[in-house]
Amino acid sequence: MKIKKFTCVNCGAPKVNEYKSPYIMCDYCGSFTDIDYTLGLDKWNESTVKTLNYQATKIALMNKIQAALQRGDKEQYFSLQKDFWDYYYRTFPAYLPPSIDDGYKYRDYLEVCAESSAEYGFDPKWQEYGVKQQQLQHSLTYYNDGTGNKVESTGFFRLAEFFIGMTKDGMRVFYENPKYAIMHDLIPEQVHMKMKMSMFVQVWIPYLTDADQERFLKMTGFSMQYVDIERPAGRTGECEHCKAEIYIPEGSYKVHCESCHKNTKVQQQFKCMSCGADNKVPEFPAKPIDCEFCGVENRLIQRLFG
Ligand SMILES: [Zn+2]
Ligand SMILES: [Zn+2]
Ligand SMILES: [Zn+2]
Repeated sequence: MKIKKFTCVNCGAPKVNEYKSPYIMCDYCGSFTDIDYTLGLDKWNESTVKTLNYQATKIALMNKIQAALQRGDKEQYFSLQKDFWDYYYRTFPAYLPPSIDDGYKYRDYLEVCAESSAEYGFDPKWQEYGVKQQQLQHSLTYYNDGTGNKVESTGFFRLAEFFIGMTKDGMRVFYENPKYAIMHDLIPEQVHMKMKMSMFVQVWIPYLTDADQERFLKMTGFSMQYVDIERPAGRTGECEHCKAEIYIPEGSYKVHCESCHKNTKVQQQFKCMSCGADNKVPEFPAKPIDCEFCGVENRLIQRLFG
């Protein structure tokens, strides 16, 4: 079969099972590993009314957030940011990463979103960035090409390049901060970068000509490559949450269910490659793990694909 090519950022395994959500989960280690931007766009365009309502509410919230910033009210700013992220994920539940699979993780995740937004919001360096982005946005010119409003190329790519650079900078600072350590497990940095890009892409795609779209998708890492893939050996099994049928490739530790968007553990134990003792499979099987008995580091999945 021909499928879009995704390689797990954590364990190196290819995506082998079909998927229906914009977020790609690894079939071997269960981690959140990539984004299918076209499926994300489908969810965005599913209901025009919903999306227009969302945009109106977002503008209203952003005005309040801006006002809190101007007053220097960090607490209010933080709480409004939390409202915004909560509203976003309630409006578009398909955009909540499946790695955030319980109420506790969701609560922690919103805290991180709001706290980091507040940190950036009140830092003069990021404020300057924000001002510059707005300037670039305001200097864009539009024209009608007969199919609708399009944005003039040069100005748009100036904005896009600036946005990408600024977001990369922000990501680096964010992932280096030990306060947000949990995020390495929930959303790998590369994937998080793509989430941010995807929000930006969604807004701008309708204003781009075909040629500009192609260039833009390449820049943001969303050009898709199709590859031939043989379904690897494996067996069918049952999702431990919703009982739907899942395909479990040989060597997999955690398989993602496309019906309920939860992971099923398919191996509870592994044998240490050095002393042969049985060890418990860790929550994130892509991470190297020391044998409980002899201390030797084991890599559970890399040896299949490395
Ligand atoms: Zn993986
Ligand atoms: Zn399920
Ligand atoms: Zn051992």
